[in-house]
Amino acid sequence: MTDVVLITGGSRGIGAATARRLARDRPEVAQVLTYVNNAEAATAVADEIRAAGVTVETVRGDVATEADVLAMFDAADRLGPLTGLVNNAGVVSPIGRLDQFEAERIERTMAVNVTGSMVCAREAVRRMSTVYGGGGGSIVNVSSRAASFGSPNDFIDYAASKGAIDTMTIGLATEVAAEGVRVNAVRPGLIDTDIHASAGLPDRVALLADRVPMGRGGTAEEVAASIVWLLSDDASYVTGALLDVGGGR
Ligand code: NAP
Repeated sequence: MTDVVLITGGSRGIGAATARRLARDRPEVAQVLTYVNNAEAATAVADEIRAAGVTVETVRGDVATEADVLAMFDAADRLGPLTGLVNNAGVVSPIGRLDQFEAERIERTMAVNVTGSMVCAREAVRRMSTVYGGGGGSIVNVSSRAASFGSPNDFIDYAASKGAIDTMTIGLATEVAAEGVRVNAVRPGLIDTDIHASAGLPDRVALLADRVPMGRGGTAEEVAASIVWLLSDDASYVTGALLDVGGGR
């Protein structure tokens, strides 16, 4: 049976770029791409990689809803043994100061970015760990450079959620290191995707590019390359790593 990689938020941005890069490098690996609203975008990515010979399924689901996460992993189980999880789905809310944030906004950020990623990681460990009879695998969490900077005046709740992802990455990597499961994170900097529009600043990358030492924002493809490397056996001795993909910042 073919290996299966599940990518949450595979319909757009970094998740979609990861699906395309994985399809290019390892077309024999089946993929499950999840989305929450944008079925059209998910279908377009799936059609594209299917045309390249990849077995792929799209699944709608909110990572903050446990039943939806279970359905995503059920879909993966139908394709073969899970060997990779890209914990990529994430949200940011409109920019502002913490003294203006409603509890509801903070809770939603944590539910998607933290609880969602942890429940997905749990399901992956239950399938990959040798303790559960699995054959091992790799989990890549998509954190952010915001975890280090704290994102003052922008979205401290988001930055804190990514700090939690870094901590989870280190803890879980250690917990399952002897069980054949590697757990790492990429920490992208300023990357050109739709996420900035949801923060109310669609031109954020252009506006802030000069603060990046390399003088430009990054692309989703540049992050995807690191994610696919961490998924692969080329990274066989890498676990608990937080890989900054931020152009020097
Ligand atoms: P994006 O372009 O906005 O795409 C977000 C993806 O996540 C979409 O596929 C979306 O599905 C999915 N999604 C959103 N909420 C979800 C939920 N509740 N349940 C399941 N799926 C959900 O974002 P992106 O920039 O590619 O970001 C991907 C990851 O990179 C996030 O974790 C983000 O925090 C992180 N990151 C991004 C940057 C950056 O500058 N872009 C920097 C650092 C870290 P739909 O298409 O259905 O909406």
